[in-house]
Amino acid sequence: MAETIFTKIINREIPADIVYEDDLSLAFRDINPQAPVHLLIIPKKAIATINDIQQDDRELVGHLYWVAAHLAKDMGFADDGYRVVMNCGENSGQTVFHIHLHLLAGKPLGWPPYTDRMKEG
Ligand code: AMP
Repeated sequence: MAETIFTKIINREIPADIVYEDDLSLAFRDINPQAPVHLLIIPKKAIATINDIQQDDRELVGHLYWVAAHLAKDMGFADDGYRVVMNCGENSGQTVFHIHLHLLAGKPLGWPPYTDRMKEG
């Protein structure tokens, strides 16, 4: 698959505010935060979309959720609550084709997360 900006962040070719790293994953602050805390948690393995997740990737994808929970505890917002979401494809607004969990926290987030576009049908 084509290299994305997230591969460049993994390879330290462009800067990012990295908050966590291990053998399988990396977490950094979103450049355009939508909440007081907005982190992106990505696998080091480049997988374009949820549709491209293979059977062998199941443990890796589960690991991303473990990292989210670990960071929530470590950064002190686990008990207040937070949202973890992964976009897939055009209708979701996915813009970077290297799967990533958005971790949003630090304020009441509201639900559902969309309004006008749904009304348009
Ligand atoms: P998505 O729309 O789900 O594909 O989310 C992509 C996210 O990546 C957006 O929230 C962007 O703000 C974020 N983003 C894009 N480039 C960077 C970057 N260089 N560093 C940090 N976050 C980025």
